Amino acid sequence: MSRRDGSSSSRSRGRRRAGGVLCRRGAARERRPRVEVDLIDRLPTPWGLVRLGVAPDHPNIKAVSRAFEKIAAQPGFRFLGNVEVGRDVTHAELVELYGAVVYAFGAQTDRRLGIPGEDLPGSWPATEFVAWYNGHPDFQDLEFDLSHERAVVIGNGNVALDVARMLALTPEELAPTDTTEEAIAAINAAGVREILVVGRRGPVQAAWTPVEVGELGELAGADVLVDPAELELDPGSAAELEAAPATVKRNVEHLRGYAGRAPAGKPRAIRLRFLRSPVAILGDDEVEAIELVRNELVDGRAVATDDREIVECGIVFRSVGYRGVPLADIPFDETSCTVPNAGGRVLDGSGAPVPGTYCAGWIKRGPTGIIGTNKKDATETVGLLLDDARSGKLGPGRDAGAIDELLRGRGVAVVTQSGWEAIDAAERAAGEPYGRPRVKLSRWDALLEAARGDAVSL
Ligand code: NAP
Repeated sequence: MSRRDGSSSSRSRGRRRAGGVLCRRGAARERRPRVEVDLIDRLPTPWGLVRLGVAPDHPNIKAVSRAFEKIAAQPGFRFLGNVEVGRDVTHAELVELYGAVVYAFGAQTDRRLGIPGEDLPGSWPATEFVAWYNGHPDFQDLEFDLSHERAVVIGNGNVALDVARMLALTPEELAPTDTTEEAIAAINAAGVREILVVGRRGPVQAAWTPVEVGELGELAGADVLVDPAELELDPGSAAELEAAPATVKRNVEHLRGYAGRAPAGKPRAIRLRFLRSPVAILGDDEVEAIELVRNELVDGRAVATDDREIVECGIVFRSVGYRGVPLADIPFDETSCTVPNAGGRVLDGSGAPVPGTYCAGWIKRGPTGIIGTNKKDATETVGLLLDDARSGKLGPGRDAGAIDELLRGRGVAVVTQSGWEAIDAAERAAGEPYGRPRVKLSRWDALLEAARGDAVSL
């Protein structure tokens, strides 16, 4: 989850201070200490990538937000939105004011390709396109020129498929989603006819998952085109496929199905290509083409041949993974772009645990894995945090009065849980007449306005 998702802090309550016991006697109570949690987020809205990353046409994945709502309804939970760590409150203050701080600020930017032309107008990180169509308020002024006939998506992960699919959705498919109004209008008016998805390795090595590959074949307005020649496997890949998990086998089955299917003449096409790397994005003042090189696999790695081609296109989405960025005063490993940790306990430069400081999610492990992966990961972190609480390693718990006073004193317009509920209600009410789950508020002022009355209400 991203910093936009927020960092959370939790504590075990007072009884630990009285005699070092977490809770009343009785095995069940001892295993389940009472905790109070403030979820701090720099955005006025919670849920991170569930709101701002998961594709809008995947409502079932977004349904996990119901579990978040149940947690938010528990006694002792508070949401403190529009609070930025490093700007409104420091790490040192958080550690002082809470028994423990868990950083879960995710991976907020994109990995770079490191090729000429990467920064030409028209070459975009997929992360920004995703944030834009999902209504992230920091990305609403971006202007994506979708008038070109061919869009190229670099990468073979699920984000690449999300981007390709979003570009291919018909007005009828987009209408019932919570894609922003601006993005719906832009995609409906797009001149894009072909979306070319380029993988540097083969079909067996692709990072995407079968449901996502399979749903491409269900799109009303786009054919899926795969050249059967690109599915011919080298001996290494054939052996890899043989031993691969069922998910990889299903991916390849889907691709073989597409390769054997005649195009139905739908208005748009998603063309999947393999064993090709971008070597340059070409154009004088904006993207006009992309130069690709054919790769061979050597020990599973993509190695460039001399075989190059130039493909005309007007827009490129670089979807080669997210990248974590540091947060003030929190240890950061520049190589892995994660917070150094042992199972979620944050480590300082000498490898010693930073007292009361933990991390979870993508900033702990790197930007891989689905929601379930991060749940497991968070469980590990919280387990260690509770161990530390039980062994008396944590300071006194949440001092709600002091944090409220500190934020009030700094003039921070905090959006509380009821402020967020006001935003949520306004969005749902706006969507209801159209059969949409919500019409998102995606501008800072609109979000803060909708929370009004509850903002600055600490
Ligand atoms: P990802 O799964 O790590 O995929 C990144 C892709 O970029 C890989 O195909 C990788 O190829 C390729 N790549 C990396 N560097 C490259 C380069 N220099 N040139 C060309 N290709 C390059 O990342 P993601 O798609 O951003 O997804 C992030 C995580 O979110 C994943 O775990 C994903 O499953 C999850 N997610 C899930 C869903 C869903 O469940 N529906 C939706 C979106 C995202 P190599 O394999 O060769 O490195």
